[in-house]
Amino acid sequence: NSPIHVIGGGLAGSEAAWQIAHQGVPVILHEMRPVRTTDAHKTDGLAELVCSNSFRSDDWETNAVGLLHEEMRRMNSLILAAGDRQKLPAGGALAVDRDAFSADVTARLSEHPLVTIVRSEVAGLPPADWDNVVVATGPLTSPALSEAVRARTGEGELAFFDAIAPVIHLDSIDQTIVWRQSRYDKAGPGGTGADYLNCPMSKDEYEAFIDAMLAGEKTVFKEWEASTPYFDGCLPVEVMAERGRDTLRFGPMKPVGLTDPRTGRRPYAVVQLRQDNAHGTLWNMVGFQTKLKHGEQVRVFRMIPGLQDADFARLGGLHRNTFLNSPKLLDGGLRLKAEPRLRFAGQITGVEGYVESAAIGLLAGRFAAADRTGRDAGPPPATTALGALLAHITGGHLLDGSDGGSSSFQPMNINYGLLPPLDEAPTTDADGRKLKGKARGAEKKRLMSRRALADLGQWIAAREPAET
Ligand code: FAD
Repeated sequence: NSPIHVIGGGLAGSEAAWQIAHQGVPVILHEMRPVRTTDAHKTDGLAELVCSNSFRSDDWETNAVGLLHEEMRRMNSLILAAGDRQKLPAGGALAVDRDAFSADVTARLSEHPLVTIVRSEVAGLPPADWDNVVVATGPLTSPALSEAVRARTGEGELAFFDAIAPVIHLDSIDQTIVWRQSRYDKAGPGGTGADYLNCPMSKDEYEAFIDAMLAGEKTVFKEWEASTPYFDGCLPVEVMAERGRDTLRFGPMKPVGLTDPRTGRRPYAVVQLRQDNAHGTLWNMVGFQTKLKHGEQVRVFRMIPGLQDADFARLGGLHRNTFLNSPKLLDGGLRLKAEPRLRFAGQITGVEGYVESAAIGLLAGRFAAADRTGRDAGPPPATTALGALLAHITGGHLLDGSDGGSSSFQPMNINYGLLPPLDEAPTTDADGRKLKGKARGAEKKRLMSRRALADLGQWIAAREPAET
């Protein structure tokens, strides 16, 4: 029984190694620290949390990351079990003592008879005789390995920066103001000529918006982030605004080829939203990658007509990151189509966050072990948070992604918008009272969470006794 190799002992790699060993398959975990470190890690512990000590909300009923926690617990997750053991008081959030957490993960893996931990860098593509490999080297993958992966996947398929524009839940967009139209009604491949949602602005609204953006508080790059070369064509929207008051009106906010049906005229400026997931429940703000602070984004972007009540599934950002164009490059089992012995996991697959990275590590570990044992591993139902996250990175997240993916693929946290909508939206609560606004949204989430756990339960039961 030859071992599976996992490269990177972070959140994803530690979880993957645990899952593999739990399926009775030997695993070698290669972690380069302390021999070589990254710009963000400070210790030699496995699963080091490089920034916040929080796994975010632990409420599985109305919070998507809480739901992911619960699903992972039911799938024997090491990261969640260690998190629960090393939990600190933090209200509804799951926050941990970072040192105790990392020590816990390190100890469990070190003690496991099927796990071998090797402290060295894998400085290029793995040797040819490693036939089953999980690459989980994270947002700060060492340059030697990332260059090798880039050479294998092709120029432009591995990004070194993310440039995230905010994403909004469709049901929070005011449909009496926005309208559907593509510029000049042009239907691209698979398009209809009405693929965008358009938010119109008058001159006064545009001027006020530019002022607010220029005055808005920005986050600053970390020193090592600032030295990473910026790519053109992905400038933060507020940097474009700084270049001139009309720069945006001739750039991402240009109104040409668009007619507001309410006035029959071309607006002064337009913010366009493009569909972001196959279900059509999430829409991204085209060209609005930004370094504005999160609170400022909510305040400033709600000034846009039609977005006054916007519920943001994701806020914008720009970070040093390393991630694949996964919808194009990976198959449904997280394998590199061009070289299936290499499977990817964690942030490098284009998920965002500690928990999401560990969740993809969990799936990659199970898939890798299943390749060895011949057991059926997945995928989990699309109605679960795990299944939805997997579908987001491997399924081609955009309908118009004729190449099975899209150059606009950007990292994403788990959120309810990634799960299929309910067959029927709730109108009343459990006591038959009519639901409105926030209460209706919360009930929708509750129903989706219950559906997820019920479907996951059946899926796990069908795989007994391999699962526990
Ligand atoms: P990592 O946890 O980074 O693990 C990758 C591991 O691979 C590392 O241990 C690294 O040493 C090792 N490695 C790299 N290259 C090689 C190689 N060639 N050979 C052997 N080993 C190698 N997410 C949050 O949810 N909350 C936050 O507050 C947060 N803050 C972040 C701050 C920064 C500065 C960064 C960069 C990211 C942050 N993230 C945060 C995002 C992300 O969730 C974490 O980076 C998370 O740790 C990703 O998990 P991972 O397992 O994919 O990568």
